[in-house]
Amino acid sequence: METEKKLIVDGVRVDGRKWDELRDIKMKVGVLKNPVGSASIEWGKNKVIAGVYGPREVIPKFEEDSTKAILKCEYNMAPFSVEDRKRPGPDRRSVEISKVITEALSSVVLLEEFPNTQINVYIEILRADAGTRIAGITAASLALADAGVPMKDLVAGCTSGKVNGEIVLDLCKEEDNYGDCDLPVAIIPKNKEIVLLQMDGILTKEEFNKAFDLVVDGAMNVYEMQKKALYEKYKNKDV
Ligand code: ADP
Repeated sequence: METEKKLIVDGVRVDGRKWDELRDIKMKVGVLKNPVGSASIEWGKNKVIAGVYGPREVIPKFEEDSTKAILKCEYNMAPFSVEDRKRPGPDRRSVEISKVITEALSSVVLLEEFPNTQINVYIEILRADAGTRIAGITAASLALADAGVPMKDLVAGCTSGKVNGEIVLDLCKEEDNYGDCDLPVAIIPKNKEIVLLQMDGILTKEEFNKAFDLVVDGAMNVYEMQKKALYEKYKNKDV
């Protein structure tokens, strides 16, 4: 079903972008003093920060695994991240997002190298404007790299979807709210393996294929930005 609200006029989207254009993205690595690794992302109007602790002692102890480290990712939206204050603390949505991000990042982190430890990843959404899970996982993988946690590769995310019947890249909030479908995806860029794929809405097979190719291309562009952000921090250091 297509929405009535006109969000694309003469090929121009509600925020002035073309169908295959990303929002402006700024990434920075090593933005916090206390955790071992951190990163921030401004993705359009989204503002996200991620911090990593560990590998460190497992608490509670009974969760310890003698074969590998446990990865725990927590996604949290700050009360001031949305227009009407969000009730603080976890809710069903944040529990779901924390779970899918944990599973996605577990595919790249070499957990077997750190048995009997845990690695904690905290993702804080300071301002939300659609696509926060993807901005969150992108920041989290940068923070893990900054912490020196060994990984197969980074994880890069992006979204595509359908708005007024057209396939578009990187939905903004209005497009997410009133559009027809939203397709957040995260990949391991090295081999384009999919580690997160969710779909909110309905697409035909042809539409899905187009949206999928678009979102993978988008994620590959995000990957280039991630590598640049890491390079910016480490270019003058002996590591
Ligand atoms: P994502 O942020 O990954 O796109 P959703 O599709 O669930 O996740 O949410 C889309 C957008 O809706 C969010 O980025 C945010 O702007 C808004 N939103 C989500 N949850 C809330 C909430 N509890 N209160 C207000 N706005 C919210």
